[in-house]
Amino acid sequence: MEPEELALKIIQDHPEGVYQNQLWKEMEIDSRKCSRIVSKLLKKGLITRESAVSKGSKTYLLKSAEEPTPSYERLLAGGMFSPCAGCRLPCEPEYCEHLTEWIMKLDEEKDTSESEAQC
Ligand code: SF4
Repeated sequence: MEPEELALKIIQDHPEGVYQNQLWKEMEIDSRKCSRIVSKLLKKGLITRESAVSKGSKTYLLKSAEEPTPSYERLLAGGMFSPCAGCRLPCEPEYCEHLTEWIMKLDEEKDTSESEAQC
């Protein structure tokens, strides 16, 4: 893997960002080479960089310019999307049949996945 690819992969693997002084250590290269790689990635628009302090040292926080893919897993139960998403009904969650049904499906899925994990 090329150093630029490796740096980008490491940065992408840290959605919260990675400090530049952590990146060059992780890549086992010197800080000057790391700076050149970071400059190339910045010029290509693949990452963002902001000033930061890590363990008392001035450095940069590097993040992938790509937005992380949103996960809708928590909004689905039994193939059913959360009934609250886009709902325009007068809301009383404690009496809502739609919400109750959806929560029951969540519980069923949880029970099923727990029993499969025990097998
Ligand atoms: S609880 Fe029921 S009424 Fe309220 S937003 Fe969700 S689906 Fe709609």
